[in-house]
Amino acid sequence: MKDFNRFEIMIRRCMFCNEEAIYYSKYRKIRLCRHHFINYLKTEIENTVSRYGMLRNVKKVLIAVSGGKDSVVMLHILKELCDYRNIEILGLVIDVGIGEFSKRQVKYAIRNFEKLKVPYMIERLIDYGIDMQDREKIEKTTRRPVCSVCGLAKRYIMNRVAIREKCDAIATGHNMIDIAQYALHNIITGNLEYLVKLKPVVEGNHNLARKIRPLYSIDEKEIELYAKILNLEYLPEQCPYSTRLDYRSMTMQDMLRIYVRELEDKYPGSIRTFLERLNRNIIPILEQEIAKNIEKYKTCKICGMPSKDDVCTFCRIISILKKHG
Ligand code: SF4
Ligand code: ZN
Ligand code: ZN
Repeated sequence: MKDFNRFEIMIRRCMFCNEEAIYYSKYRKIRLCRHHFINYLKTEIENTVSRYGMLRNVKKVLIAVSGGKDSVVMLHILKELCDYRNIEILGLVIDVGIGEFSKRQVKYAIRNFEKLKVPYMIERLIDYGIDMQDREKIEKTTRRPVCSVCGLAKRYIMNRVAIREKCDAIATGHNMIDIAQYALHNIITGNLEYLVKLKPVVEGNHNLARKIRPLYSIDEKEIELYAKILNLEYLPEQCPYSTRLDYRSMTMQDMLRIYVRELEDKYPGSIRTFLERLNRNIIPILEQEIAKNIEKYKTCKICGMPSKDDVCTFCRIISILKKHG
């Protein structure tokens, strides 16, 4: 019994310094204390950034922060990496306008920008003509779920701000689980061409900003642990419109997320391997195919942003909403 206790104590110790371990990865076979876990996660993110050349030739980066744990952790780590490389950063928070929830989101994002002395901008969906409080009108007139309109608007605004502010890249806080969920959804629904947009770096052009995903290889559980250990201030709650809140409203994407989570928990490392192979073996083939039938992006004649048609989807949605008062 005595020996067993000694063993128990031993296995709870950090493998580097013998302090109490707070993190254990079966896949990496590591056990780390608070201090070594912080170093480990920063190094993992730095390695992802270097490996995919995320900050190569970047002079100014737009960091999109929603106030949630992922984007807050990304902001803190990317700030250090950018400072070290002398890269200018600009923070962006988009106020989607869903009552108290959005007010808290913006508050948390601003607190982090101010704590790190990062200059920032706030963009509001309402200023573009989207009143998210009127969910029924949005869904009825656009014939899209509210999250589809909100997601499209956020992507549009991020790009527009990045181009306007002359940023060479937009950094978003998508983690490994988010990306695997999108990838599986595109595979299941047969939209293979969208897989190429799920790379760690998606190159842009004169009116389409380059996108980088520094948390591409990081598990959401590691991000949450990092935020908690460092007492980072982030919004813990989900959007009241989220379909994940109730089983009956869950979408296929939500179900796939549960599946991805369970898969990674039961087979640690499986999701990271899936994404690595997707990137290395499948996406290059798809890119060659897509290049053959490339659909040239035009410029939207209303806003000047990239569009497949004469008018971009965002401008079309805005005009529908305007028409319906
Ligand atoms: Fe927008 Fe939907 Fe996300 Fe809420 S859950 S912020 S409505 S995309
Ligand atoms: Zn340690
Ligand atoms: Zn447009």
